[in-house]
This record gives sequence, structure tokens and C-alpha cells, in this order.
Amino acid sequence: MAAPVDGLRNVLELEIKKKYTDNAVIGGLDRFLLHFVHQAGLPDDHAFIEVLRSLPPGGYRALHVIQRKRVVEELLRAVVDGLPPPRAPDPVPVVENEPVQDSPAPVVGTLDSPISVLKSVEPRARPLFGKVPIETVRDLLHHYPTRHEEYLGIRPMNDLVIDQIQTIIGTVFSGAKRGFGRSKTTEAVVSGAGGSVRVVWFNMPWMATKMRQGAWVALSGRVSSYRGRLQMEQAEEVDPKDPAVKNASIRSVYRSTDGLRQRQIRSAVRQALDAYGEQLVETIPAEIRKRHDLPGIRQAMEDIHFPKSLELAEIARRRFAFDELLSIEVGVVRRRAEWQSQDSAPVLVLPEPIREGFVSSLPFALTAAQKRAVAQVLEDIGRTIPMNRLVEGDVGSGKTVVAAASLLAAVVSGHQGAIMAPTEILAEQHFRTLTRLLDPAASNEVDGEWFQETGAGFTVLRPSYLDRPLRLTLLKGSLRTAQKGAATDAIGSGEVDIACGTNALVQQSVGFDRLGLVVVDEQHRFGVGQRAALREKGDSPHMLVMTATPIPRTLQLTVFGDLDITVIDEMPPGRPEVKTWRVTPPQRKQSYDFLRKKVAEGRQAYVICPLVEESEVVASKAAVQEHERLQREVFPDLRLGLLHGRMTPSDKESVMREFRDGELDVLVSTAVVEVGVDVPNATVILIEGAERFGLAQLHQFRGRVRRSSEQAYCFLLSDSESPESMERLQIMETVNDGFKLAEHDLRLRGPGEYFGTRQSGLPDLKAARLTDVDLIELTRAEATRVLAEDPQLARPEYAPLKLEVDRRWSGVSGEVS
Ligand code: ADP
Ligand code: MG
Repeated sequence: MAAPVDGLRNVLELEIKKKYTDNAVIGGLDRFLLHFVHQAGLPDDHAFIEVLRSLPPGGYRALHVIQRKRVVEELLRAVVDGLPPPRAPDPVPVVENEPVQDSPAPVVGTLDSPISVLKSVEPRARPLFGKVPIETVRDLLHHYPTRHEEYLGIRPMNDLVIDQIQTIIGTVFSGAKRGFGRSKTTEAVVSGAGGSVRVVWFNMPWMATKMRQGAWVALSGRVSSYRGRLQMEQAEEVDPKDPAVKNASIRSVYRSTDGLRQRQIRSAVRQALDAYGEQLVETIPAEIRKRHDLPGIRQAMEDIHFPKSLELAEIARRRFAFDELLSIEVGVVRRRAEWQSQDSAPVLVLPEPIREGFVSSLPFALTAAQKRAVAQVLEDIGRTIPMNRLVEGDVGSGKTVVAAASLLAAVVSGHQGAIMAPTEILAEQHFRTLTRLLDPAASNEVDGEWFQETGAGFTVLRPSYLDRPLRLTLLKGSLRTAQKGAATDAIGSGEVDIACGTNALVQQSVGFDRLGLVVVDEQHRFGVGQRAALREKGDSPHMLVMTATPIPRTLQLTVFGDLDITVIDEMPPGRPEVKTWRVTPPQRKQSYDFLRKKVAEGRQAYVICPLVEESEVVASKAAVQEHERLQREVFPDLRLGLLHGRMTPSDKESVMREFRDGELDVLVSTAVVEVGVDVPNATVILIEGAERFGLAQLHQFRGRVRRSSEQAYCFLLSDSESPESMERLQIMETVNDGFKLAEHDLRLRGPGEYFGTRQSGLPDLKAARLTDVDLIELTRAEATRVLAEDPQLARPEYAPLKLEVDRRWSGVSGEVS
């Protein structure tokens, strides 16, 4: 059957080339199609026949061109899907001198052959492709363009379009001059049909010698408007007879590497598509494609690389995005289902009287959002399905009390709880906060770490609402061996009810007796491995993850798709929004003066040093210098402290303690160090080099001063005048909602930057964007439906999807991070 199918496809493709004029075959397409159906012996309900049935009595011939286009596409799709794909040809050697007639040269190799099978890829260029990295023909085809550029062809001078790339032809009216002094500009005036245009080159002095007066030139470049006149920038000399120059087109722009030209990539893709396009196997089942109106893989591949219009390019991109997102969602949904099919978690219950006693002993009333979160978490942990819940709430929204309630439930149900923070300072803060929340009446002596000095492995609280004591411990790396041993032993023996700590908690030597609940704070700082390790310390304990980094909806449905999410979208009452200003260099002194005034009023302040590099060594050095400069030149009369990542934990500790206890007025800190400590008296924060930070991160910093009913202030210092950084800092001035900022951040900087690192566990997306919210939701729904019908993806039409899901999810450990 392969032969008639190939013939049919050729005819349909020719029909497309001939712009649907019904000139592809003698006798017309209608006759040909009929003939094909007879020959191929298709079943009556075949998609192909369905399309034919939809034709009017006059057949294809009677259709308007637009309808013809649709029909041809549908037919092609039906052919590609519905019939067995042509067998991938074995790598046969090309036989010399064989009369080949009109048909293309036989294809050597498969999609998985190295790109050296493509003639247009010169041996010299191969390593360059490898760097991209593109190794195989398949890699090349799936190396989608990052954008498409419209090229308008050759245009007369009086018909140029601003902001577009086009070609002008004319004579050099005044020869190119090189700029003088520091200016690196070269410019010429070219006149031709319809007028003249100024052409400028930056940093391309050699153009001056090429643009001699009177020379006839063809120049291709982007046209802009400069002081009301048109000008072409960075023009390239081109050959006006070259069809690629003559004809308007849409050009794909690819991510490349030094030395590899766009042209080389384009021609390699063209060749790959012509020779191997037939071998592409449809990955999205026909039914799903139909439901969402997605083009077939072959057509989409053509359109994403060589689109006839920008609309077609976008349709193709969305199709491949759908591909990627569907395989992600199938993985996410399946993982979630597996997780939920376990029923081995301990039932943790907080009896009503204890719950009430706890809540009414708090020094404040819970916000509605906190109540909701507590209720949801308690419901989860009251079941045998292990909880996997993410609680997200802005800095200061009061997440710790939710952790406290659930830890209490674990303890009174006879289990242990653990709470893990990414830094010692934060772990210590948890320990203090928890002691205060669980037993507000505890003496100051209990509310500290003194127990570790006495050799005890834990501290004992006696809350009035409990008929038993609560034993808490703090485990961190910087403890002396004996202290660590005492805490570890008490955890292992089951004496400790609640363990706070850093990742010291996941170390080999720490074994829990009956761990029932794990709380992980600021989860994005923890690796997948660390969370998994902690979970393994118990017999499938419940897991509560807390974060102040807002997770945009798109990521909620993908990277965090296996977690249930609770949002605390409300701040405790009486916390005014932080007043935020962008500060330009001339205003710097004013912001220093303001800080001094606030200190005089008894407040404290943070100064955050610029993000020099992701290297803490360099950042620390810069912070040391900044601290010195501020102390010497700006605030000689104030008490300044310094915090950076190269300090020993105990030095950091003591600086933080001094700041907390009001012995320092200003804390100068690197950005990399977590200053997530609760110092309500600090109401001013000054952020240097603010444009280098993500919005989410700036918001985190700002949250540090929003800790009381006192009005707080944030100054964003920036020397940059680039429009992007101005825009971002302006957003900070006006938007106070962390979630909105996160969406902005994602839009402006992309997901990798947003999370601060490249290895945030984000799936590798080539076509999909994390702004494709609609597609993410559609694929989520499809994934759910597909798995409900066929949990193993055993049906033949799901085979390519299954392959893709397995590829994408293999090597990802038991958890999505
Ligand atoms: P985060 O969500 O950043 O972890 P915390 O749990 O540390 O916030 O709480 C921040 C501060 O707000 C703490 O000092 C805490 O005691 C206080 N707090 C929490 N909930 C409330 C509330 N409902 N009313 C008043 N203060 C609260
Ligand atoms: Mg917190």
C-alpha cells in the first residue's frame, strides 16, 4: 500500500505548491482521489473517506480556494495518521549511475542518523552543530526557531516599512564616512527609485571602503525612523538576483553558536525536512488533534521552520508546545495518581479541645487564610494517603503557625514531626517561633537554645492546653559533636517530639523513631534529593512544603503539578504596604539621609549589596568593601554590621543576634545570604544594584521590613537607565502583590532566572512557553482523560506519547521539584 500512499501525498503536496488550483494531476483531483480510494481499499469509516464525504456534490473542484486548502490539509493529515507510516528505509548505499529520473535521491539513514548524512552540513560545521547541541537529524528538526523574522524583499525607497527588514537598490549618493573621535558610526546616503535613504553602520568601519560614491549597491537591513527620516541600520550587501533576496519571506531565527550561520542551519533543516520528513511519526493521537484543531506533525514541522505566514508559524509552535506539555502532564498526573494510591501514612488528628486551646493561646487571632490553610492541612493528614501539600504565602503572611498546628497534630497522635529550613539562621528562627507559638507562656529561658549548653538533647515545653509535655530540639551543622550527639540520640529514641533543623536532619546518622510529618520551608532551595531523603526517614510521612516564592499558575500545573496547593493570600492585619522608590544616582544621598533619620527615630535598616555574581566569594568581597565605605564615608556615627556568606556560621549568628537585639543600626548584607530573620524593628531596606535582581527576589527583600504596624520603606538603587530595568523597578514601585510580581517576573525574565538558578527542575521546553496557560490547562485535562481511559498507555495510538513520556520522566526521581 506504500506506493499509492506516496503517490497521493506527492499529488496533495503538489496541489499545495500550485496554490490549490486543481492542477496537480491531469483530470483533476476528484478523479484521482476516487481512484486512490479504490486502489487502497480503505475501510468505510476511515478518516480519509470521512473527509471525502464532507465534500459538496461538485467535489473538490466546486470549492473555494480557502476550503480547498482545508480539505487538502485534512486529507494529508488523514493519510499521515491513518495509514501505516512508510517503513524507515534501511541505510542502503547509494548505487552509482542508476538512472534516477525525476524522483529524489534515495534517502540514506533515519531520523536518528548523525547530521553528517545531510550533504549541506560540511564536515567542518559538524562540531559547531554539536555545540548547539544538534547531533542527529531528529535533533535538528526539533531545534525550533526562537523567533521568525519577516523579510519584505526589494522595495522602492518611498515604500519602505519601518521596523522591517527589506532590501534597497540604488547608487551611493554620498560616499560613506567614518565617524570621528569616539563615534564608531559609518554612514552613507543611497539613492534609487523613489528617493534616498541614509544607511548607518555601528562598529563596522570597513563598510566605508565598500560604499564609494557612485557605486551601485543592493543593501539589506532593518529600516528605522531617525529624527523623522528613514534610515537603514547594519545593512548587509546582498545579491539582488538571489531568489532569497528578491522574494519576500519569513525567516526563522535559530539559537546558534559562534561560527555557525543562520543560513547554514536553515539549509540543513530544509534538507532534513525534505529527505526525512516522511519518517516523522505522529505523536498526538488523531482524536486529540482533531479536538484541539492541531496540524499534523509533518505540516507543523514545515510551518515552524518555513512558515508561509506568521500565523501558520504560531499554529505550528502551539502544536509542538502541545506535544511537550502533554507528555509533561501525563507524567505529572500519573505521578500524582501513584502517590495517592498509597495508603500507608499515619492518621494524624488534632482533637478539637486541643486545637481550640492552641488557637486561643496564640497572641493573635488567625487570619481567615490561615484558618483555611490549617483546616486543609488537618484534613489531609487525617487520612492514610500521604499528604503532599504546598502552602505558599507572601513573606510575613504567617505560614509558621500552620506548620505549628500540623506538628502538634502529629505529636498528639503519637508521632514525631520535623521541620527543615535551608539555613541555620532560619532553622533557629523556626525553633524560636515554634516554641513561642506552641507555648506562649514559656519562660525566656525555655525559649532559647540553652538546653544544648546543658548537654540535654531537647527542651521541654508545658503548654496549658496539653496534658503532656512537648519536647523540641534543634539540629544544625554547627553544633559541637556532643551536642549533636545528644540531639540525634533523643530524636532516635523518640524522646523528641519535634525536630527543627537544617539539612543536618537528613544526614545518615539521624534516625527518627516514628516520623509522621515533615515540614519543609522555602522549598525551592532544597534539592529533590534532600526532600526525598527526609521522606525516607519515616514510613511515608505526610509532607508539608512551605514557600514564600509565589508559584505562577503555569508552574503550579507543571513543575509542581503533583502537589496540592494552598495559598495564604492575606496578611495579618495592620501591616501597611512597604513604600517603594526607585533611586537614581543623584538621589542616593537623599536615601542615605532618610535612613539616618529613621535610625534617629530608633528604627533599624538593611543595606543589600549588589548581586555581583552567583559566586559568594566575589559577592562577599564586595560586601566587605561596601560595609567599609558606608562606615567610613556615609554613616561614621552609626553602628554597622556585616553579613556575608564567607563568614563562619557562628560569626553570622552573632551578627544576626546583635542586629536582632538592637545592638546594630544597619545590617550590610550580601544578597546570597538569607536574611530571613524576623526583626520587626527594621523598617528601612536599601537595595543596591536593584536592577540585577528578579522581581520576586526584590519582593522577598522588601518583605523583611514588613513585619509590624510601623510604616516601612524600600529604596531601589540603580545606575541603569535601560528601559527594561526602568520598567521592572517601576513595577516594584506600584505592585505590592507577590503573585502579580511573580507573573511579571516570569514574563520578563523566564522561568530559569525566576527561580534564581538554571537547575530548578524545570522541564526542558523547546516550543512551549510558560505563558501558554491555556495550553497547559488543555493538556492537563487531556492527560487526565487519557490516563483515566488507559492508565498504562497501552493502546497503539498512545505508543509515541508513551515513548515521549518515558523519555522525559526517566531519571527524574520519585518527586517533581
Ligand atoms: P512567614 O509566612 O514569612 O513564615 P511567619 O510565620 O514567620 O511568616 O510570621 C511572621 C510574623 O507574623 C511572626 O512574627 C508571627 O508571629 C506574626 N503573625 C503570624 N500570624 C499572625 C496573625 N494572624 N496576626 C498577627 N501576627 C501574626
Ligand atoms: Mg517563614
